[in-house]
Amino acid sequence: MIIILLGPPGSGKGTQANFIQNKLSIPHLSTGDILRQSVKNETDLGNKVKNIMARGELVSDDLVLNVIKERVSENDCDQGFILDGYPRNIIQAKSLNIVLKDIDRNIDRILFLDVDFSILQSRIETRSKENNDEKRADDTSEVLIKRLDEYKAQTEPLSEYYRNNKKFKKINGMKSISEVSLDIENFLDNGI
Ligand code: ADP
Repeated sequence: MIIILLGPPGSGKGTQANFIQNKLSIPHLSTGDILRQSVKNETDLGNKVKNIMARGELVSDDLVLNVIKERVSENDCDQGFILDGYPRNIIQAKSLNIVLKDIDRNIDRILFLDVDFSILQSRIETRSKENNDEKRADDTSEVLIKRLDEYKAQTEPLSEYYRNNKKFKKINGMKSISEVSLDIENFLDNGI
């Protein structure tokens, strides 16, 4: 199964992607995680994207497209995968269609985790104040505002783009984690 997970920063995509990964035994591909790992390893890609990411801006479509193309062609993606953080704008959605067509595969489900902006702001403010080793360079309140702005301008239009696709479903991301997981499970289990 190929699943796209859409939603603003702080909507719980990572948590629910883990749930789906365990349920279906398919890998969770997070472009954010892959890029952060490249930054950490100081690869050419990492060095190119480091400052852009720290500012909360989107990195170029070409760079992420290469990341995705390489990653989905790995063996562990044979049975499907969960895309988290890709596509992030309409251009990327169109590129993804081409990538999948080239490997003769289709999107099976598009899940949009819907959370009000006021709730997101407080969720991420809390996350930015947590003191943990995994703290991200972009988890400060100033960068958070930038990330939400980028989301509104670039990514939110995707819900309109996919709205008439019968594989698309808006999920209320303001319920408890287990309730959201259950709603997702129902949608995955139902034939379309
Ligand atoms: P968030 O928690 O805000 O959803 P992610 O972990 O998905 O963030 O991504 C962090 C950063 O990585 C983004 O702010 C952006 O700079 C970069 N990034 C991740 N995915 C993409 C993408 N598909 N296109 C462009 N930039 C991306």
